[in-house]
Amino acid sequence: MFNKKPVVKEEKKLSLDGKKKKAPPELLRGFRDVLPEEQAKWDAVRDQARGMADAYSFGRIELPVLERADLWTRTLGKHTDVVEKEMYTFIDPSETQVALRPEGTASIARAYINHGMWNLPQPVKLWYDLPMFRHDRPQAGRYRQHQQIGFEVLGVQDPVVDAQLILIATRLFQDLGIKVSVQLNSIGTPESRQAYLTQLTAYFRTHRAKLSEEDKHRLQKNPLRLLDSKDPQTIELLAAAPQILDWLDEDSKNHFMKVIEYLDEVQVPYVLNPHLVRGLDYYTHTVFEIWQEGDAGDRAQNSLCGGGRYDRLVEVMGGERPAPACGFAFGIERAVRAMTESGSAPELRNRPKIFFAQLGDAARRVGLRVFEEFRKAHVLIAEASGKNALKSQLEAANKLGVAYALILGQKEVLDGTILVRDMESGAQETVDILKIVPMMEKKLSGGSVEAES
Ligand code: AMP
Repeated sequence: MFNKKPVVKEEKKLSLDGKKKKAPPELLRGFRDVLPEEQAKWDAVRDQARGMADAYSFGRIELPVLERADLWTRTLGKHTDVVEKEMYTFIDPSETQVALRPEGTASIARAYINHGMWNLPQPVKLWYDLPMFRHDRPQAGRYRQHQQIGFEVLGVQDPVVDAQLILIATRLFQDLGIKVSVQLNSIGTPESRQAYLTQLTAYFRTHRAKLSEEDKHRLQKNPLRLLDSKDPQTIELLAAAPQILDWLDEDSKNHFMKVIEYLDEVQVPYVLNPHLVRGLDYYTHTVFEIWQEGDAGDRAQNSLCGGGRYDRLVEVMGGERPAPACGFAFGIERAVRAMTESGSAPELRNRPKIFFAQLGDAARRVGLRVFEEFRKAHVLIAEASGKNALKSQLEAANKLGVAYALILGQKEVLDGTILVRDMESGAQETVDILKIVPMMEKKLSGGSVEAES
């Protein structure tokens, strides 16, 4: 919690008078810009998610970035990484302790309660595309601000929901050309977990001396988290540790078996992973992650997607009626990285195929109108309005790799014409400016334009 440690680093002074050259402004560590050249990949991921959401009738929801901090401190668990060390928490000017959203599910449950969504036909299916903030140690694929797309289904306990969500997430990545494996486990209910935790704690107590300081802390505060420890000693010990599936009550076992049956039905392969627990307290029954295939290494970096069932969350938050629920979320940054690694990332789309070169003031004025005509016809054209010389404008056109350049100079403005230059052959023709849009449309669609020019 940042208000506890108000160590304010000195701000770098920026000089606008140009006399003293200061260091360039810096991004905060773990934050990044997503530049235009990356957008095609981001769009591909978003389009895929939107397509899935439409196909399975999920309604999109927007949620505020800032909420009361206790929304998460009370629900994720006191001894989780997010609450213990990763939240951006501060006191706002009205003396309220607020936090930048570290994850979406608690806000979804809050919105379900606030809007009385139990009055709607159940289940309520929501999806979001929102930034998340976690003050984690930045590394490849791990940022302090990242963008999550999430799908949540509230109001139904049926295991078919869990299976359908796993199916949606799996197909979403597969359709993006990413090879994935589904890691699956059940952590039962808090009650059935209790008996297991007693066993697990007893087992690790006998091996306490071999544990790292961090894992000793986990043993004391949140022993379930020992299951996803990264410490090699603990991983070795886990091989002989009691397994949670052996301790599930009948209902939890049945729920899990059904999920597996449904996944078999739709031929979604999965790996039963007894060490998968997910970090947050609100999970019950099914938990799952989707990993990029071939990356068995550091899980925190490879997990493309995480999700599970959270049957008690709405109730714990004070919902009028319980609303069993299940959901998943994935980071766009990691999906984009996986797509790039798989060689399935799309090229920049919507590249203009025409460049507009204008010479002189009159041409600029007419050019504004011509641009509007192309926009109305949904034909994309590029320009380099800062350049005056024809040579430099044509160089810019070359760099963009357009098929045609339109050249409008003083003479053409007076004649009511425009030059069309084929960038590959260098051939030029003069065309009536009033016919330029339909003519270029034809040229771009590969049609013959002889009769009109
Ligand atoms: P989690 O809520 O931690 O399970 O995160 C869900 C998904 O969000 C993960 O599977 C990642 O794809 C993504 N994610 C989580 N934390 C980060 C982060 N710090 N930077 C980038 N992506 C993240």
